[in-house]
Amino acid sequence: MEASGSEDSIVSQTIPTETVALGKLAPGVGNIGLRQQTVPSPRPGQVIVEVLATGICGTDLHIEDDEFPYEAPVTMGHEVTGEVVKLGPDVDDSWMGRRVACETYFHYCEQCEHCRAGFPNRCDQRRSIGSKVDGGFARWMAIPARNLHVLPESVGRFAGVLTEPLACVANCLFDPPVINAGDRVLVIGPGTMGILTAQAARAAGGDVVVAGLETDGHRLELAETLGLETIGLTGSDDGGALEPDVVCECSGSAAGAGFGLRQVRKGGRFVQVGIFGRSIEAPLDHILYKELVYTSGNASTPTSWSRAISLLAQGSVQLDPLVSEIVPLLEWERAFAATREGRGMKVVIDPRD
Ligand SMILES: [Zn+2]
Ligand SMILES: [Zn+2]
Repeated sequence: MEASGSEDSIVSQTIPTETVALGKLAPGVGNIGLRQQTVPSPRPGQVIVEVLATGICGTDLHIEDDEFPYEAPVTMGHEVTGEVVKLGPDVDDSWMGRRVACETYFHYCEQCEHCRAGFPNRCDQRRSIGSKVDGGFARWMAIPARNLHVLPESVGRFAGVLTEPLACVANCLFDPPVINAGDRVLVIGPGTMGILTAQAARAAGGDVVVAGLETDGHRLELAETLGLETIGLTGSDDGGALEPDVVCECSGSAAGAGFGLRQVRKGGRFVQVGIFGRSIEAPLDHILYKELVYTSGNASTPTSWSRAISLLAQGSVQLDPLVSEIVPLLEWERAFAATREGRGMKVVIDPRD
């Protein structure tokens, strides 16, 4: 992968009126493909970013499968890095030319108790890029300037797409904080969210072990290259008695949740990071018998974005090793197939290629 570098800053001189975009074209299962999309003009408070890279996430597969709310036709993609190439009215000039990562809430009401408390993720009226507003699987995208975060110099355009999932992890771990210095932390599930969670937990002072199935071998190896301790499980109940202070369940599986609830120490904390996507059976009596604190976090907040950017600027979280494949937009089918099969880790779409 690339670290950063000057090739990140090659933006086009003129913005065309139309661009090729990958979208959900119509309601129902499937129905995703390329289309011509009008490049919007920025409204007051908005900018146009030239998209440098956009990550594919499980949510995109759920939209393809008709399992996540969307409004078709819509351009998909919400893990976006870009360069600001045009400013709408009332936007500070200093944004022009900045290399950014983008918060995903295009619209929220700003008036409900949650918006006013700094939690737009809880707003009933939130509309996000990639599902209800045109997102980043296209070369140009409109986005409110309030959603922009300057990407640290050390973070490349491809790895930078992981800023968004890192902000979701930060929302789970730090608001409210669940990890104290010296805590023994068990992270279950060595996927993208698990490896980001493990690194963020370590940055908070945790002594971290990442657990995965032996079939997750290459992912556990990746965790080890980042200096993380790992354990490979053959079933849901081995691994010995770890008794961690904190369990971060990142697999979104019933087996992972059960394993974590059995492993966590009495009086410990259990953080649900992964999404199950359906009702599951799990031994929840452990919450009572062990007097656990059970927390989670839904998506991201402006505060969690700031924390994610700080972790990256400090070098506490490495993103580059997680990018396994970079695929041109026109070859999106190959990229979606790789994500669906769980090959590698994060597959990134390059809309400029
Ligand atoms: Zn996502
Ligand atoms: Zn609201």
